[in-house]
Amino acid sequence: MARYTGPKCRICRREATKTFLKGDRCYTDKCAFERRPYPPGQHGRRRKKASDYEIQLREKQKVRRMYGLLEQQFHRYFKQADAQKGATGTNLLRLLEMRLDNVVYRMGFANSRDQARLMVGQGHFQLNGKKADIPSIQLKTGDLIMVREGSRKIPAIAEAQEVLARRGCPDWLSVDSAQFQGEVKTVPQREDISFPINENLIVELYSK
Ligand code: SF4
Repeated sequence: MARYTGPKCRICRREATKTFLKGDRCYTDKCAFERRPYPPGQHGRRRKKASDYEIQLREKQKVRRMYGLLEQQFHRYFKQADAQKGATGTNLLRLLEMRLDNVVYRMGFANSRDQARLMVGQGHFQLNGKKADIPSIQLKTGDLIMVREGSRKIPAIAEAQEVLARRGCPDWLSVDSAQFQGEVKTVPQREDISFPINENLIVELYSK
C-alpha cells in the first residue's frame, strides 16, 4: 500500500507539533522538533499569518500523517464518521484509534504506527486467536490482540515495550506484556485521545 516515505521529522516541523513518527527518538533530546521548533526550509522562520483555510488544511494534514494515511483513505474515514451518530470529529478520531495497527502501537508492541503497520502486514499478530495481517481492521470492545508465538523474540517488540513504560498505555486498553497480549477494554472517548488535535478544524474543512 502506498504511503509517505519522506523525512518524518519534517512533518512535525511543518505541522508545528510532535507527531511521534520515529518511536523512541521522539522521547529523547534528539527530537528534531525540540531542537528546531519552526517550519523547515529557508524561510521557515518568516511565515506570514495563515488564513482560516490554511489552518484547517494543516490540521487535517497533521492528523492524516500522524496515522500514516493517504488523502483518499482519510477522506473515506471522514465520510464514515459523518454517517455515524454523534460528533463527526470524535467519530473520526475513534475510527482512526480503533485501527489494528494503531492499537498494536498503543499497546507497545511496536515503536511507531509505521512499524506497527509493517509488523501487522508481516503476520506477527493474532486477533481473537486468528491470524490478522490487515492493518486497517477496525477493532471493537473485548478484542484480544496477541503477538504470535514465533514472533515473540523479535527485538523490535522488546524495544517497544521499554518505550511503552515511558509513554504509557491509554486507559481504554490493557496490556499483559509477559503474555504478549492486550485487550480493547472499551472504545476510546474524546478525552482518551490526548494528542493535540483540533478535529473541529477538519470537520470545517471537509464541510466546505
Ligand atoms: Fe517528530 Fe521529534 Fe519524532 Fe522527529 S523525533 S518524528 S520531530 S516527534
